[in-house]
Amino acid sequence: MESARDKCTGGIVDAEQLWIIDTVDPLGYECRGCGAPVTPCSYRPENKVRPYFSAKDGHNAGCDVEGEVELVKRARKQRISTREGFPGSFPNRLVLRDTRPAGSSGTPTDATSTGRYRAGSNGSGEAQRDRHWAAQTIRPICRTFVNYPYDRDLPLAVPGIAAHTYQRAFRPLKSDQILQYPEPRLFYAPISWKAPIEVDDQFEIQLSYGEWTERKLTRPYRVRMDWKDWSAAKRNYVFREIETARLEYMAAKKRGDNEKGWLFFIGRQDEDDPTLFHVDDHRLVCCVVAEMIYPPRPAKRQEERHAAVRASTEFADRNG
Ligand SMILES: [Zn+2]
Repeated sequence: MESARDKCTGGIVDAEQLWIIDTVDPLGYECRGCGAPVTPCSYRPENKVRPYFSAKDGHNAGCDVEGEVELVKRARKQRISTREGFPGSFPNRLVLRDTRPAGSSGTPTDATSTGRYRAGSNGSGEAQRDRHWAAQTIRPICRTFVNYPYDRDLPLAVPGIAAHTYQRAFRPLKSDQILQYPEPRLFYAPISWKAPIEVDDQFEIQLSYGEWTERKLTRPYRVRMDWKDWSAAKRNYVFREIETARLEYMAAKKRGDNEKGWLFFIGRQDEDDPTLFHVDDHRLVCCVVAEMIYPPRPAKRQEERHAAVRASTEFADRNG
């Protein structure tokens, strides 16, 4: 699984965060759905696949994390929210904390989660679901956006972004034009697999959207990290994120899958050069290799609904 609860802080960490932790505690994590112990895997520098957590002894009854793979398969074809709500758990906010809370070695404090896992007190042994949780990087939020294309009305709170659903908080860059984006959003566009440029303590990633002349991308959007003051660990985190995504993309291409590398970021557009975005924090950039699904626009769905209402009214008129 891609995320787990840190037993010390009570916060939910994404497996990629293991890249940046000095000494990973193999016993320090539990399933965010049921509290079963989980083991951090594949986080060492020599590992080529992304880090993940493994529930080697299985999950407790009623754990929804266990069923997530199947849920996502269904969710990529249709809406899975019902009148009862969304059937899975998801990050509903981004909370950037600078460090672990002081004294975090004591009892777990749970500043970042609502409805922490509790073993069922009714004797059923069923785990109560941790339905909403706080993401510590944009990565789990971006994954949720990709995985649940028909449920993008799910609530989301991101500091500095004046939008309250997944649908509105995310904004793709324009594929064939350089635009001004006055409102901060969680931007995304396909990454160009040209090697990132590193000069003078700046790291720059080129995207595959921008201005085209004679079918050539002449002014691509770019994402720049001015990382003079970044630690080696933070730089390494971004390096590995991009490099791992590149390997995933190549594997997908080999399989013949229709996947792209999508770079997601929260950044500010340069005042003088609108092709350029500045990202100040390693937690605000990630690359997800996936097929992006865009469901029919809500306006169209609404039209269909109106058409259905019209049809039923006409039916009533004719028959009433
Ligand atoms: Zn579980």
